Amino acid sequence: MTPEEVHAATLTLDAHVDIRWPDPPDPLADGPMRVDFPKMARGGLRAAIFIAYVPQGRRDEAGHAAAAERAEAMLRHIRARADGEARRFCATAAELEACFEAGALGVLSAVENGYAMGHDLSAPARWKALGACYLTLTHDGHNDLADSARPKPALGDAPAEHGGLSALGRQAIAALNRAGMLVDVSHVAKPAMLQAAEASRVPVVATHTACRALRDHPRNLDDEQLDALKAVGGLAQITAVPSFLRAAPPGQDSVASVEDMADHVDHAVRRIGIEHVGLSSDFDGGGGVRGWENAAETAGLSAALLARGYGRRELGLLWSGNFLRLMRAAEAAAG
Ligand SMILES: [Zn+2]
Repeated sequence: MTPEEVHAATLTLDAHVDIRWPDPPDPLADGPMRVDFPKMARGGLRAAIFIAYVPQGRRDEAGHAAAAERAEAMLRHIRARADGEARRFCATAAELEACFEAGALGVLSAVENGYAMGHDLSAPARWKALGACYLTLTHDGHNDLADSARPKPALGDAPAEHGGLSALGRQAIAALNRAGMLVDVSHVAKPAMLQAAEASRVPVVATHTACRALRDHPRNLDDEQLDALKAVGGLAQITAVPSFLRAAPPGQDSVASVEDMADHVDHAVRRIGIEHVGLSSDFDGGGGVRGWENAAETAGLSAALLARGYGRRELGLLWSGNFLRLMRAAEAAAG
């Protein structure tokens, strides 16, 4: 079986792709970004979740207002790029599946950093109305919802601030559940991640992460965290960020390949089962490995996984089946 044969029948979904902001390049042109529509079409990547990312800033009224404005502007921009029959914006699991059946490219959106909601618990419903399917609770640096796995001393961060989730963070998770958005625990400190898995009425997802058992990095999930995801029916999506996959040689940057990604997938699958593992690139946000440097090379990752013995069914679950299960669970629990 070749990757092309698998891709012909598989909804390949990249669960975390950043865009440039401000001044995003034209996605219709084969341009400077690792993901644009020509590269997706050429590489057999059928859908991607584009991210309205908000960097952590000062936690005051002006900072929160600017963050909220940026997130909403980015969500509107992402939705507007899916401008017709060939590129469809998909706000629900059913829309994404119909898009795939129609042979169109799927465009989805999500928000990265709960800082963008400030203290406004009505934000998730507004984001959902714009089509967003998940919120990453933090980025690098604590916010008012939760502790980050990577505090920012330059912003005055202590190693831990809330001891996990704040009371507001718990209310935010309830608001996300009500809105039908998934809770993304990537970037979140371990205590907050474990608390979020317990608190959410819908299984949580780590959309861009890797395994701490293979690479001791603060952004990775240890086995206890993987087990917690399995226990709640959640999902760990292994991402193509070299420093998460492999330690850097002294004085150099990390370099990794699709084989390293496959090693992390293997570990997670052995630990918690294929139903709880997925894939993402973090392209244009730090992702890119030998064999999967951009969306045009999507077959490279599928080929590495096929060589490890994963078949059509397993690749379907890893690429989108498991994430669709969570999207449906979020939609069913909304209201
Ligand atoms: Zn991120």
